[in-house]
Amino acid sequence: MLEIVQIPVLNDNYVYLAHEPLSGAVGVVDPSVAEPVEAELQRRNWRLTHVINTHHHADHTGGNLRLKARYAATVVGPRADRARIPGIDIDVGDGEEWLFGRESARVYDVPGHTRGHIAYWFSESRALFCGDTMFSLGCGRLFEGTPAQMWASLGKLRALPDDTRVYCAHEYTENNGRFARTVDPDNPDLARRIAEVKRLRAQGLPTVPSLLGEERRANPFLRADRPELARSLGLPAGDPVAVFAEVRRRKDAF
Ligand code: ZN
Ligand code: FE
Repeated sequence: MLEIVQIPVLNDNYVYLAHEPLSGAVGVVDPSVAEPVEAELQRRNWRLTHVINTHHHADHTGGNLRLKARYAATVVGPRADRARIPGIDIDVGDGEEWLFGRESARVYDVPGHTRGHIAYWFSESRALFCGDTMFSLGCGRLFEGTPAQMWASLGKLRALPDDTRVYCAHEYTENNGRFARTVDPDNPDLARRIAEVKRLRAQGLPTVPSLLGEERRANPFLRADRPELARSLGLPAGDPVAVFAEVRRRKDAF
């Protein structure tokens, strides 16, 4: 089982350390910056072995080169975006199993936010590192992809087990909840999650990771194939891509 440490950095980014105790492997997922990662490694007396990237954006890869140089860490990232991942050593792609110490991650290509975005699913630990593809009650903006691509990408993640912990890369949940209510106002699971998020934030606690089973019920971006969501948007049911596109469009303007 992985031991996972959450490090809040910059305004709202989360960087994660993942420690695989049998082998001693230590990975950092999407290091925006190096210094807070170095401090946490030092505090725990862990030696970094891997940098694990989901996509090329600077708030996910900004610490790559410094961490690689300091620890001789291996940088792992998306094959489809090899050229844009600083210091990449190993590239991985859809359906592959990547071995991290003694635990393996299944890789999913999840284009939409960027064209080469990937997610890592550690089945044994029930941990999903999904970068900026899925957030709690939200999803990433479509900078380099289409609604159809993003809907298909979210469909892969949505199919994972209910007890999967969703380690997304940003604390956007409160604002996402405010928006979600406008498109899915009668969803009791959404109302419950919004109340929980409010309580957590009032205590200064993170709302991430969330559980995939909860996201499936409350996150409007995972519910574009639900007739009640289409109805609330005034769209015909049966075209989830059109519903997804409309939810994304409204969120961009929210
Ligand atoms: Zn991003
Ligand atoms: Fe980001």
